[in-house]
Amino acid sequence: MSLRSIVAPLLKWFAENARDLPWRRTRDPYAIWVSEIMLQQTQVKTVIPYWERWIKKLPDITALADAKEETVFKLWEGLGYYSRVRNMQKAARLIRDLHKGRFPSGSQDILKLPGVGRYTCGAVCSIAYNQPEPIVDGNVIRVISRVAGIDEPIKSKPVMDRVWSYANDLVKHAIARQKPGQRNASAFNQSMMELGAMVCTPRNPICSECPLKGRCEARKKNKIDYIPTLVKRAAVMKRRYIGFIIIWNGKVFVQRRLSGGVNAGFWEFPNWQVDANVDPADFAKGNLSLNQVHLELLIVINHSITRYRNRLEMFILRVSRKPCLGRLHGEWVPMAKIDKLPLTGAHRKATKYLQD
Ligand code: SF4
Repeated sequence: MSLRSIVAPLLKWFAENARDLPWRRTRDPYAIWVSEIMLQQTQVKTVIPYWERWIKKLPDITALADAKEETVFKLWEGLGYYSRVRNMQKAARLIRDLHKGRFPSGSQDILKLPGVGRYTCGAVCSIAYNQPEPIVDGNVIRVISRVAGIDEPIKSKPVMDRVWSYANDLVKHAIARQKPGQRNASAFNQSMMELGAMVCTPRNPICSECPLKGRCEARKKNKIDYIPTLVKRAAVMKRRYIGFIIIWNGKVFVQRRLSGGVNAGFWEFPNWQVDANVDPADFAKGNLSLNQVHLELLIVINHSITRYRNRLEMFILRVSRKPCLGRLHGEWVPMAKIDKLPLTGAHRKATKYLQD
């Protein structure tokens, strides 16, 4: 059976079942690009309010290019993987300067934008401009590998090349059968992602409702649980951090993360990675140049980044005299204004706890 036979049923299924997502109501390449960057590593339901706020505040390339970094970071605060937002602003400035503020339509130009790889380029080209460019993300990999019955380790280069080549052939076939008024490249690429998200899920796919159930090799061979075949992940590593919300005279001490590092430009309370046996009070005395400390544990925040399982113990430390704080560089900000700063995710959560 040719894999091309999945195109017609998928297009029909998508026309009848596509979710009404806000970025699906526009063909503006800027708005679609923003949604695609936000959706990397983040769930749809989380992205919706972020995207709506962003588009309201920064409705076009020029608005993003000209915006203050603080404004852009604040709009992104909580979405994580902050290099995405820095690259977006760099890309917007490039488009403003090289393309007169118009989002380019050629894949060669789009691929030159910071933070844009083959997937995002394919998504913008197909969804915004209806160009027959392929896209391959986790959902597409799952659908294609199951339908085609690919049971080799999926992330190996030859297998990924094969998946891209199938995706490319399928979207070209979709556009070849396009009738006037249809946008088959856009609809077909989205249909594969939608099927992977809603029906052909990693665990317990709903095969009985799948438009491809009669064409699916993994289903025929009873291999759904093994396809796609993933190689073992790197071992999980635990890391412990301690942080201090130092309160003096109605103000708190915050530091800005240095450029070039993770979460650069965002603000946070002083914190350190420490060994499991470190006593927070002793640590605070030594590192904050304080003689006496009385710590209150505010919250313990557990969060995962890639293979790291981080535990942040956040303490409140009240001081009556302005401390010199050793070699720390930062600012004293009135408690009431801390909300205005773009904070990294865990520190935003701690701030909310503090205010509550
Ligand atoms: S039949 Fe099942 S495994 Fe095959 S594509 Fe459909 S949902 Fe996925």
